[in-house]
Amino acid sequence: MIGMGAGLAVGIVLNLIQSSFLETYLVDGLFTMIGTAFVNALKMLVVPLVVFSLICGVLGIGDIRILGRVGGKSFGLYMLTTTVAIAVAIAVATIIAPGAGFNMEGVDTSGVTAAEAPSVWEVFANIVPTNPVAALANGEMLQIIFYVIIVGVAALMLGEASAPFARACEYMNDLMMKIVGIVMAAAPYGVFCLIAKVFAQQGVELFVPVLAYVGTLTGVLFLHLFVTLMLMLKLFSGLDPFTFMAKIRPAQIFAFSTASSNATIPVTLRSVTERMGVDNSVASFTVPFGATINMDGTAIMQGVATVFLANVYGIDLGISGYLTVIAMAVLASIGTAGVPGVGLVMLTMVLTQVGLPIEGIALILGVDRLMDMIRTAVNITGDAVVTTIVARSEGKVDLAVYGDPNAGVVGD
Ligand code: ASP
Repeated sequence: MIGMGAGLAVGIVLNLIQSSFLETYLVDGLFTMIGTAFVNALKMLVVPLVVFSLICGVLGIGDIRILGRVGGKSFGLYMLTTTVAIAVAIAVATIIAPGAGFNMEGVDTSGVTAAEAPSVWEVFANIVPTNPVAALANGEMLQIIFYVIIVGVAALMLGEASAPFARACEYMNDLMMKIVGIVMAAAPYGVFCLIAKVFAQQGVELFVPVLAYVGTLTGVLFLHLFVTLMLMLKLFSGLDPFTFMAKIRPAQIFAFSTASSNATIPVTLRSVTERMGVDNSVASFTVPFGATINMDGTAIMQGVATVFLANVYGIDLGISGYLTVIAMAVLASIGTAGVPGVGLVMLTMVLTQVGLPIEGIALILGVDRLMDMIRTAVNITGDAVVTTIVARSEGKVDLAVYGDPNAGVVGD
């Protein structure tokens, strides 16, 4: 947090000074180098960590039926949180009506192109990799999860003969977690550089024309983070939301600084297992799964942006238009990876679907990096909430570690 606060202060000062010397050598030079190296180090951990912790998870669950149950519950909850998120976003944005009376003249719309929407069938068919090595090399998370689960299930079927394999994977998992610890030691400096860079580059003047959009979006993101998700946690797991919020903070800071759910996987995993006492057999599956298919914050952005642009262009989407936006955003969040900026690319798809001109995106392009940082923090918090709820329902949360021995009896 100190790294983040200092980065914020330094970034704002640098933006005010506007020195081209400092911009070249400090912002584009040193800060970019350290920030990029740090994000690279996090990404370097993702694939091996997911592979080994997921194999250990499958072997730890030990029963294919329970595996199916955990998968079903987490998928259902991920879809539910995203649907609630976007429905609330559209409702609030419709009431506040940001963008009404805005004039598009003079906005540079060049360089905005529409993304093709993959069909639902395609998304599901592509979960099966043709080449697992390519999937690993390209970090195709859903394909990796699918393949690793098959390997784990096969190892379970082989029974006793798999014991040496299980021991080796456990060792590799411990080893990867150790490396996460090493990378985390550099975190304050990495976070400092990433945040300082963003704020040095983003002037306040970018925000002024779209203040209504930024304000509405930030408001709904916080509403989802502090009210909807925490209510769900309390309701479905009986666990204390304040304790949860305190323990998920490191992962939120990483998500905020990197704007990537994927790069944050090692930190989210560590936060839920080591700080909250969620068993690895559940977290190893639900965390990478959530980072890939669950994007509450991104869905909220798409909802608010659609209403904003509909107002700007004076187009009435009607109930069917809004229902289309909800369905599109939920489906889109399944098929896209948790990397920076992808939410905006998916927005072009949503806009095309409801017949809004995609050039409108040019309006919110300038503020998207900051919005991406906030929505990614919301995305990974959603992953952690669902992980905790599912683990609790399976009796897989160590309450002594969570620090809430008086939690209700749900899942006991
Ligand atoms: N950056 C987001 C994530 O990684 C996705 C997005 O909204 O662009 O979760």
